[in-house]
Amino acid sequence: MPLRVLWINSDWCKGCGICIAFCPRKVLGTGPEGKPEVIRPEACTACGLCELRCPDYAIEVLEQGGKNNGQENRLEINAGQ
Ligand code: SF4
Ligand code: SF4
Repeated sequence: MPLRVLWINSDWCKGCGICIAFCPRKVLGTGPEGKPEVIRPEACTACGLCELRCPDYAIEVLEQGGKNNGQENRLEINAGQ
């Protein structure tokens, strides 16, 4: 089971693309309305840069079982295994 999840709050995301541009591992691609979608989950290192750079607090790297576990928009990643 993945130890971390990447959580994208699509209600808060404005589709600026910053997280996509700054991800050093090219994990994120551009989805509908410019919002990020995970295209290379296996490449994520859970570095947290996407979370750090997002001006709207719309993307977070969470521990499995963390505060937003169970949210619809969470995307499991394998980083930390
Ligand atoms: S945690 Fe790091 S590697 Fe993973 S999607 Fe965010 S910026 Fe990319
Ligand atoms: S940086 Fe934040 S607001 Fe911009 S596209 Fe990424 S998640 Fe959405």
